[in-house]
Amino acid sequence: MRRFAAILLSLAAAAQVSAASTGYYLGDSVRQLGLRELDRQRGDGAESERHGVKGGIGLYAEHNREYVLVDGVKVMLEDSIGSLRNHLTISRLDYDKVFVPLFWGPPRAATAVHRIVIDPGHGGKDPGKINLPLHYSEKAATLDTAARLKISLEKQGFEVIFTRVKDVFVDLDDRPDLAARYKADLFISLHYNGAGAGDSTSSGIETYCLTPAGQRSTNSGKAKASTAAEPGNRFDGGNMALAWSIQRRILAATGAEDRGVRRARFAVLRPLSCPGVLVEGGFISSQKEGAQIADGAYRQKIADSVAAGIGEYAARVRPAQK
Ligand SMILES: [Zn+2]
Repeated sequence: MRRFAAILLSLAAAAQVSAASTGYYLGDSVRQLGLRELDRQRGDGAESERHGVKGGIGLYAEHNREYVLVDGVKVMLEDSIGSLRNHLTISRLDYDKVFVPLFWGPPRAATAVHRIVIDPGHGGKDPGKINLPLHYSEKAATLDTAARLKISLEKQGFEVIFTRVKDVFVDLDDRPDLAARYKADLFISLHYNGAGAGDSTSSGIETYCLTPAGQRSTNSGKAKASTAAEPGNRFDGGNMALAWSIQRRILAATGAEDRGVRRARFAVLRPLSCPGVLVEGGFISSQKEGAQIADGAYRQKIADSVAAGIGEYAARVRPAQK
């Protein structure tokens, strides 16, 4: 019933846009998702809007920005925020793929979460990013974080399967395959980031979900959008809801820079048979953040906050108790 209601909402929003050729009025759109316009706050941009519900998550949008803040967390958009007759506008794709999953739940095609595949990025001949002064590699950091995450998830009652349990090379295609073979309900790929040569200061957290069909990936610049739907696109709503929950929890636990919930057509996300995300838990190449990542206490924070984000997502998609 709720799913049907969401479809009706989508249609209703589509019908009321006539004024804005580039998209929907933000205020009208999110009002249909239960939000109302809130007062602006000191320091808000000249052309900005706040929407929310009392005690619920709030939304901040600013003209020309390529992201919105959802409960303070940056979520990258397909199209920058527009403006028409002194009201902000959003694209139809962003309404469907960002705003509906985050403000109207549970996400479509999402099932209850029991079994989770954890994918420690890289391994064996592929070390991933390396912090040379610290002699510390991404493949070691992801494997250790995965072990910590497993304990944290099992405490919540989830079943956990790994794509690798030691320092071995695993083909990219084999990782999502495992999720299908074991009929997993979620797939979590763990990574740490790296900047270009000579950059030892870039830092912060990114959580990626699969780019929806017809949309450009966050990192692809002006490249043409692929219109082909991948298997993983069946879970666009769940992917976004999961990514946002994890990104928010990591930022709260670490106080790290927010580089946003982002979109990419990563090989491990495209063929997925369940919702999934790829987490970049900080820059191993950064002098400061790299030293933190090399410390077990930081990796424990990453593991615990990823687990908390998963728990939050799972509570959202759990069928209502009779
Ligand atoms: Zn990586």
